[in-house]
Amino acid sequence: MNALDAETKMQFLFALRSRGVTETRVLEAMESIDRGAFLRGIFAERAYEDVPLPISCGQTISQPSVVGLMTQALQVSPRDTVLEVGTGSGYQAAVLARIARRVYTIDRHARLVQEARQVFEQLNLSNITSLVGDGSFGMPDQAPFDRIIVTAAAEDPPGPLLSQLKVGGIMVVPVGQSDTVQTLIRVRKSENGLEYDELRPVRFVPLLEGLGKET
Ligand code: SAH
Repeated sequence: MNALDAETKMQFLFALRSRGVTETRVLEAMESIDRGAFLRGIFAERAYEDVPLPISCGQTISQPSVVGLMTQALQVSPRDTVLEVGTGSGYQAAVLARIARRVYTIDRHARLVQEARQVFEQLNLSNITSLVGDGSFGMPDQAPFDRIIVTAAAEDPPGPLLSQLKVGGIMVVPVGQSDTVQTLIRVRKSENGLEYDELRPVRFVPLLEGLGKET
């Protein structure tokens, strides 16, 4: 199957819309980024199905509708600098790169960052900076950020990330104490403090400490 075939793309966009991804900018960004480029072998053939799929290091590329809903919830403007914690395949970062000024993305697995960088280059996405590290500590050198998106589940929104968010900024993070029950939270930072908003149930791999052992 040709991943870019018009019929496949139409069905992909239809599925996104029917699951609540309705913003034109987000849909256009997702239409322009080939999810198949972030997948290997047999999984690349399933790139346009609305399902999470396995990637290297025992991790997963998120479900497209979840990528769309999180991107939408982040309310990114074209001038924004965004931090993503959990590069994984790089797909979410690539979608963000289409609608933000600059995207910083960090993962604890060096191999995932290397593979994602190759795809960013192949797709000419020059406004993404990727780094290997424990993203729970954010990226102090590049802070503060207008937007922060965490694509692994934490017990609580990590303190360093909250402090690296600009006043007026928004952070989207899955929060939960187990692998099965997690809620997507939106945090808004104002001069008066932090305001939390529960968005929907989600299921992500856990945010782990330290660097990953390569597999
Ligand atoms: N956004 C990705 C999917 C993320 S899967 C995509 O679009 O494909 C979750 C990722 O979070 C995994 O790659 C995992 O290695 C990473 N991760 C988990 N804990 C982390 C931490 N403390 N710092 C950085 N990355 C982390």
